[in-house]
Amino acid sequence: MALITKAIKGTNDVLPSEVHKNQYIEAICISAAENFGYKEMRTPVFEHTELFQRGVGDTTDVVQKEMYTFDDKGGRSITLRPEGTAGAARAFLENGLSNGALPLKICYLTSCYRYEKPQAGRLREFHQFGVECFGASSPLADAEIISLANQIFSELGVKDLHLEINSIGCPECRAQYHKALKEYFSQYKDRLCGTCQERLERNPIRLLDCKSPEDKEIAKDAPEILDYLCDDCREHFEKVKSYLNAMNIEYTVNPRIVRGLDYYTKTVFEFIADSIGAQGTVCGGGRYDGLIEELGGAKTPSLGFGMGLERLQLVMDAQGCDYPAPAVPDLFIAAIGDKAKLAAVELAKDMREEGFSAVYDLNERSIRAQMKYADKLGAKYSVVIGDDEVEKNKAVLKNMSTGEENEVDLTTFVSAFYSVSMDEQLKDLEINGESIDFKALFGLGE
Ligand code: ATP
Ligand code: MG
Repeated sequence: MALITKAIKGTNDVLPSEVHKNQYIEAICISAAENFGYKEMRTPVFEHTELFQRGVGDTTDVVQKEMYTFDDKGGRSITLRPEGTAGAARAFLENGLSNGALPLKICYLTSCYRYEKPQAGRLREFHQFGVECFGASSPLADAEIISLANQIFSELGVKDLHLEINSIGCPECRAQYHKALKEYFSQYKDRLCGTCQERLERNPIRLLDCKSPEDKEIAKDAPEILDYLCDDCREHFEKVKSYLNAMNIEYTVNPRIVRGLDYYTKTVFEFIADSIGAQGTVCGGGRYDGLIEELGGAKTPSLGFGMGLERLQLVMDAQGCDYPAPAVPDLFIAAIGDKAKLAAVELAKDMREEGFSAVYDLNERSIRAQMKYADKLGAKYSVVIGDDEVEKNKAVLKNMSTGEENEVDLTTFVSAFYSVSMDEQLKDLEINGESIDFKALFGLGE
């Protein structure tokens, strides 16, 4: 019984009183991405399990421990997406987008699913804003996606994030590095966690990403990738840094950042907050030159990032960032009597067609109760319509916060509403100490 009214652990409801925050963050993400030339793409919430095993990598925590995988009724193994890149890459290949204009720059807002231990900033269903740039090998692209994330944070007014970057090289230089890592970690093999003992053979760089305290301690003195970069990777990294410098984007180089996913090459980065505890990485991304080939496509150097929207909101709340006020009705129409109700539905329709929000009481309560309801909704204006108003074709438009009243004609209500609400909005506006007659300016005078 209790299960019916209990959400699954690690999931969140977004209530109507809070949703304006999500809508605001999402709108800023999408519009900033559009300003950088990224177009939205939408892909399914589930994919064949093999896609993630291949595309995320089967030595990662995500694939080894965190996926929601099940057999559907047809006996196929299905996985709820744990991240957005693999699905986007699959869609890129399947829909022939790789034959179109490259680079292809896409973005998305998606839910992601990971079976993790729920805690602050770590959910089982969470949401990401992500971007992917398919078919771009230049360091210009690395700097561009970093600056896009940076732009989003600055538009949202998020301040206490720092950017950490690293290069994890290409398969060539990483081979040397893997050898050095293997040598180093082999000395401590017996003290490593079980997963890392296996990783030592298959993908030693993953050891640097282990969350176990003992392994972390051992990893402290491990060799650093930056000492093993080939000339090409080194030059690429230097150029990324020079573009970031040119844009005045501050960063620190952190050779410990390797990212959780297997397909990354060269640049990796994270935006980290100190204000929200251990789960401080708000955005992580980098280059994944090997992924598209891994999935059966032609060599297509690519890159992207994923931004955790719940964590972003935690940071914004911790920092006291402003959100725009939630939307309230422009007009509440209180109606009493059958004729008045007919007038109310007509009026609401006219108002809505002009782009105003207008509501009336769907429970046909007393005028007193209707006005109380209007107050609770926070309506900006109200109008009361009864038999008398219908008869005389006139009603009183009331500003709910100032109490100011204006008699208006019901037949020309919408334009009167426009004029009254405009007047009040513009009244307080002045430029260089002089009030401006905006109505005259725009030819809106009586
Ligand atoms: P972490 O080290 O925190 O586990 P990750 O390396 O697994 O992160 P990515 O796969 O890079 O994370 O995902 C990108 C972003 O998505 C993260 O930086 C974070 O903001 C967010 N994120 C990842 N996992 C979760 C989760 N379980 N709950 C909420 N947000 C998450
Ligand atoms: Mg993780």
